[in-house]
Amino acid sequence: MNDTVSLIVLDQQDYKENDALIYTLGKEKGFLTFQAKGLRKMESKNAYACQPFSFSQFRYDEREGSGFQLLHEAILIESNRPLRENLVKSTVASVLSETVLFMSRDGLDMEGSHELYALLEVLYKELKENERPHLVLAFFYARIADLLGFSPMVDGCAVCASKKVDSISISDGGFICPDCRAEIQSPVYPSDILKQFRYLAKAGLGNFDVLAGSVDITRDVVEIYRDFLIEHAGLRLKSWAFLEKVL
Ligand SMILES: [Zn+2]
Repeated sequence: MNDTVSLIVLDQQDYKENDALIYTLGKEKGFLTFQAKGLRKMESKNAYACQPFSFSQFRYDEREGSGFQLLHEAILIESNRPLRENLVKSTVASVLSETVLFMSRDGLDMEGSHELYALLEVLYKELKENERPHLVLAFFYARIADLLGFSPMVDGCAVCASKKVDSISISDGGFICPDCRAEIQSPVYPSDILKQFRYLAKAGLGNFDVLAGSVDITRDVVEIYRDFLIEHAGLRLKSWAFLEKVL
């Protein structure tokens, strides 16, 4: 029987002589990996719809319990071409893909998959239309931290709950007050950094435009949130090395 799924192509990897493995996030089905036979031959009609960052529709026969599905036909819905043609944008999009694939390894429930799908839709659009890679990365990391249950404490000191804060501790999980800062020898952070961090932690996906219009997200905050995911979620990405070079 024929199954059809709307999905986002996350990544593509050479497989056997002429085939490729296509890693995807399906709108209704969560993570799916497809074997695309003959994809690397010049005349493959499925090639465009299998390019990373495309929104596509795949037709296949569902094989239960199998590691990957056999692709019959791939139809391109939206190519998101600007994401592949600009070095910074393609690198940021690769970081998003690799993170999503990292999350697929531990399994994610359907609700989580739906949220990830919606998150990628919003951030691909932003990435295509504007030049705000730090905003995209920081907002993405913040929502990933939420999804994984590691949201930082930003309503007061993460150690003693005091409302007066002037620092951030990755290992303690959020804002830090002057007293605790002295004890754990954490640096003082500028108020602008604290504000960005708090806004990011508080914003839901539906508030993306409001957040984008009210704070300028800087590289420092991207790195703080990245370190948060390294420390609490064990996130390690190959694409970070290249990101360091281009951004
Ligand atoms: Zn404290």
